[in-house]
Amino acid sequence: MTADVLDDTAASPQTHAFEADVAKLLHMMVHSVYSDKDVFLRELISNAADACEKLRYEAIAQPDLLGDDPAPRITITVEADARRLTIEDNGIGMTAADMAETLGTIARSGTKAFMDRIAAAQGGEGTQLIGQFGVGFYSAFMVAAKVDVISRRAGQDGAAMWSSDGLGTYTIGAVAAQDAPARGTRIVLHLLDDAADYAQAPRIEQMVRAQSGHVPVPITVKDKPD
Ligand code: ADP
Ligand code: MG
Repeated sequence: MTADVLDDTAASPQTHAFEADVAKLLHMMVHSVYSDKDVFLRELISNAADACEKLRYEAIAQPDLLGDDPAPRITITVEADARRLTIEDNGIGMTAADMAETLGTIARSGTKAFMDRIAAAQGGEGTQLIGQFGVGFYSAFMVAAKVDVISRRAGQDGAAMWSSDGLGTYTIGAVAAQDAPARGTRIVLHLLDDAADYAQAPRIEQMVRAQSGHVPVPITVKDKPD
């Protein structure tokens, strides 16, 4: 990692290239003909719940990390006219350095295994593997033309934003305090034309029931008319 990505206070967002394996994976996501794109929500909700669990664990030694907001929650907001879908948690959050480390590389072993299988797969078989492996955060690019991740690490004042269209590069920069969650992560999906359905509350509610019923954090779906 280069020193510039660690600079939370940089005035303007800085551009970075994805690792070659991530670029390959993203290319697959962007051009995916995989029919069950719904799995992206399961992945983002699972990350949000993981973040809440990490906070709960860290707060055992450091209770002040919870501040005046101790109960974990996941809030999903749909904006039909703006064609936006937002998934927000009040979990552990990420610093700019955390983002550079985890949202630009293939850190997880599951994704590595997926890439190895893809390399060995014949033609159309590859896309079938998406659902089987659960490709994590990057699956958001099956439904979004652009993804913004705005986050504040528990116990920190500064907040950061990661942003990408999934086409080779991403930016990371500081964001103003009022534009970020008080604690945790907000993921904004600027949906593709053919994914506009995901900005409908009933659709999202049905997906949450079908895929994420076991998640141990309460999930609220809100409709925000423009
Ligand atoms: P995995 O969940 O298997 O680690 P993902 O691709 O789903 O892989 O996520 C990659 C990493 O990005 C996570 O391990 C975590 O460090 C970070 N991350 C993603 N979403 C969040 C979130 N909502 N809050 C905090 N960290 C997150
Ligand atoms: Mg995950």
